[in-house]
Amino acid sequence: MTQTNTQFSIDSEGWCEQARKVPSPHHNQRPQADDISLLVVHNISLPPGEFGGPWIDDLFLGRLDPAAHPYFADIHHLRVSAHCLIRRDGELVQYVPFTLRAWHAGVSTFAGREACNDFSIGIELEGTDTLPYTPAQYAVLASVTHALQQRFPAITTERITGHSDIAPGRKSDPGPSFNWSYFLQLLRPI
Ligand SMILES: [Zn+2]
Repeated sequence: MTQTNTQFSIDSEGWCEQARKVPSPHHNQRPQADDISLLVVHNISLPPGEFGGPWIDDLFLGRLDPAAHPYFADIHHLRVSAHCLIRRDGELVQYVPFTLRAWHAGVSTFAGREACNDFSIGIELEGTDTLPYTPAQYAVLASVTHALQQRFPAITTERITGHSDIAPGRKSDPGPSFNWSYFLQLLRPI
């Protein structure tokens, strides 16, 4: 299995140059600006199980229309975000610079340390816990991860985790549909 990952780069302000930038107001400063040492993989789809609409952008920008779908009435008020979203076709969208704190993890613990938003980067895959992610999503996730590990070396491969691992019982994403062994294989140097 060969895979040539595209080289991605991160600018001085923490934006990935290959991403479509959609700045979200849902962010703030990290308590320790230089403490970026965890990568959290998530999934999201809006409405659940449907792909391709504008709704994820709208949620992360705080402008989701509660009348557009019954599910949205329950979530439109949430002030949440992630650093990035990788859509089904591999499009990379970035909402928050990696240097700042996005609001993706909620109540969470990694290796005994709480409040993972403080020291992590959150990447959403457009998807569900049960439907396989696309090859384009894995390829882009690997490229982003490689760029992040270059820029933030404290994010070792052992410090890449799933939302379900840092919030067990509360969160289930990225779910059994995420193929960790395939993803980690893509991260290895070719
Ligand atoms: Zn999540």
